[in-house]
Amino acid sequence: MEFNTELLKKYSKPGPRYTSYPTAPYFSTTLADKAWREELSATQAMGRDLSLYVHIPFCDTLCYYCGCNMIATRDYSKARAYLDVLYREIDRVAESVAPGRVVRQIHWGGGTPTYLHPGDIRALYSHLSDRFSIGENAEIGCEVDPRELSRDHVLALKEAGFNRLSLGVQDLDAVVQIAVNRVQPEALVREVYGWMRDAGFDSVNMDLMVGLPHQTVQTFTATLDRVLDMQPDRMAVFGYAHVPWIKRHQKLIQDAALPDFDTRVALQKLIMERLGAAGYVYIGMDHFARPDDELVKARENKTLWRNFQGYTTHKNCDIYAFGVSAISQTDDVYVQNAKKLVDYQNSIGSGTLATERGVRLSGDDKLRRAAIVSLMCDLELDTIAFGREWNIDFDRYFENAIKELQEMEKDGLVQLSAERIRVTDAGRIFLRNIAMTFDAYLQETEESGPRYSRTL
Ligand code: SF4
Repeated sequence: MEFNTELLKKYSKPGPRYTSYPTAPYFSTTLADKAWREELSATQAMGRDLSLYVHIPFCDTLCYYCGCNMIATRDYSKARAYLDVLYREIDRVAESVAPGRVVRQIHWGGGTPTYLHPGDIRALYSHLSDRFSIGENAEIGCEVDPRELSRDHVLALKEAGFNRLSLGVQDLDAVVQIAVNRVQPEALVREVYGWMRDAGFDSVNMDLMVGLPHQTVQTFTATLDRVLDMQPDRMAVFGYAHVPWIKRHQKLIQDAALPDFDTRVALQKLIMERLGAAGYVYIGMDHFARPDDELVKARENKTLWRNFQGYTTHKNCDIYAFGVSAISQTDDVYVQNAKKLVDYQNSIGSGTLATERGVRLSGDDKLRRAAIVSLMCDLELDTIAFGREWNIDFDRYFENAIKELQEMEKDGLVQLSAERIRVTDAGRIFLRNIAMTFDAYLQETEESGPRYSRTL
């Protein structure tokens, strides 16, 4: 893949990651519990496949870079109380699900799902599998923190039915680890990774993070070398989003220790080159996979999809999400549970669901989402077929987007023809910028809207 430093500088600006459209800051409290119950009931007859997400918010310690909805505590009684409520939420949703709807994907995220004791991992998974019909080849994944993990955790995940794990590594450099309060020596990562391989997991992903304090090209080269030596099936290298005005604990990271812009650009170049040379295919939006991985095949077959868990091979699923702050979706609606633990627990305790806000998509939202997903997943958009499918004159409807894309074409990021928009090789690391041209909300609220992390 080509890599142009000047273009990275030009296009670095705040922007969403488009795990949904409209993006979460535009969810409103006017769409809450009653509307979600009605949507749940109205959509059963459609019989779409299901994806289940479970949010476990607890962590033993706070990583200073954290951007997740989490609670740092060593008091396990909080997790026990949470599980009781979670079970009730799962029961309540499961009661409305029509028989025959098949679960194609399950993901546990956090926080730290492996904060749960092995026995509770087994019990929670059984609770889900007793109430939903899980498809034979379902993709069942869990995020894993190697710290405080035992071999029993890994075995419990395997026995429960998980087949893919995602190991949080971030950076193996000791200075960086101390600066972000996440100390996990390489020996520990290797040991845990060995347990996963011994247990026979189909796929192990490693998450890295770039843009952390004290990272340099030299230190991150060493981290990449050591990670690549372990040969994970997939890798995600996320850019650290320094947003201390939203995540106040990020103030614990010294601004002066963060890599400057030139270093971030050099780190990005390093990642693309090293992972490419090691044989990984760039899926897009920070994700890499081996050439025989399902994500790569799905990209080729145009069945790749994007949702709150990132890229997925399961298109057209309704997502039922459980736990504090978890986001569910149907084709027409996104809803998010209460973000505060106490509100979540009180709502479920009072016999309702815990929906706090959401959005019902307009026709315009749906067609813009379709355009964004097509470009982010297929790297192209057939404008003639799209116009026919959505009953619009594509060029007229997206006049503003096309003007912006024409500018990007001059920079070699896209190719425009009478019937197609195609993302070029050089444009693949600018997918967020390309998608942003279709985002009506950004255009409306450029000045007063939410403050996103930078695209680089
Ligand atoms: S383990 Fe993950 S969720 Fe927990 S504090 Fe660290 S980054 Fe945040």
